[in-house]
Amino acid sequence: VDLIERAARDIINSRNAIALTGAGISVESGIEAFRGSQGLWAKYDPEEYATIQAFIDNPEKVWNMFREVLETIINAKPNPAHYSLAELENMGYLKRVITQNVDGLHQEAGNKNVIEFHGNNRELVCLRCNSRYSMNSFNWMEVIPRCKCTSILKPAVVFFGEPIPWDALTTAQSDARKCDLIMVIGTSAVVSPAREMPVIAKQNGAKVIEINIEETSLTYTTSDYIIKGSSGIVLPGIVNKIKEIQ
Ligand code: NAD
Ligand code: ZN
Repeated sequence: VDLIERAARDIINSRNAIALTGAGISVESGIEAFRGSQGLWAKYDPEEYATIQAFIDNPEKVWNMFREVLETIINAKPNPAHYSLAELENMGYLKRVITQNVDGLHQEAGNKNVIEFHGNNRELVCLRCNSRYSMNSFNWMEVIPRCKCTSILKPAVVFFGEPIPWDALTTAQSDARKCDLIMVIGTSAVVSPAREMPVIAKQNGAKVIEINIEETSLTYTTSDYIIKGSSGIVLPGIVNKIKEIQ
């Protein structure tokens, strides 16, 4: 069977399809994924840089890594995978994108219903007094942003050891329970609780379609099938097939 066609038919026959995306969907936009030899974690040990304790202990050091990440992210543009999900939403086939990414590329591509499970890179938060600021109001390349209370500001991304924003978590869980199809795209599915969304969906009878260049921990336990390939090729293929047969 042609899995692209199978996915196209499954999407056409669904009533409430959603997607969970991870760093892999943005690789073709020039943003490296975290795991893998080229990944950021090969250079920066997450224990040392991406935990909330690391930020509390040494915010200057974490900011130096963050600058590097932000520079790449800010210059990145959506790729055909992002645009395909926007098209599926416009066609009425995709109710929500739950993304683990903080790059904002789904919104830039045109998706309206996006849950940013791990926060975003547009805002800064104060861990001391809870004030929030727009990233744009600081020259963060030159100086480390500080709150009016003098505390060093933290990017509004979820660090390891921090809770998922309550709204994002509860909405995603409810989506996962209600959906009848979930596409799991470009995520290694090792970070919890994000990885639980397809598991919840499966337990509630949804089809789980994985799109990834390699197998993951979900592949033989949770996924109905995996379409092996890069998301920038596979997703446009599915959209074209839907247009052909609908
Ligand atoms: P991950 O790095 O753990 O896994 C990436 C997955 O994408 C892998 O399974 C890999 O096989 C797959 N992949 C790589 N290139 C692909 C392609 N072209 N097409 C399809 N699949 C491809 O990423 P994760 O599971 O999202 O978890 C890492 C955490 O890091 C997430 O919480 C995320 O918030 C964060 N992160 C975000 C960004 C971003 O915002 N773009 C980038 C790196 C990491
Ligand atoms: Zn403050």
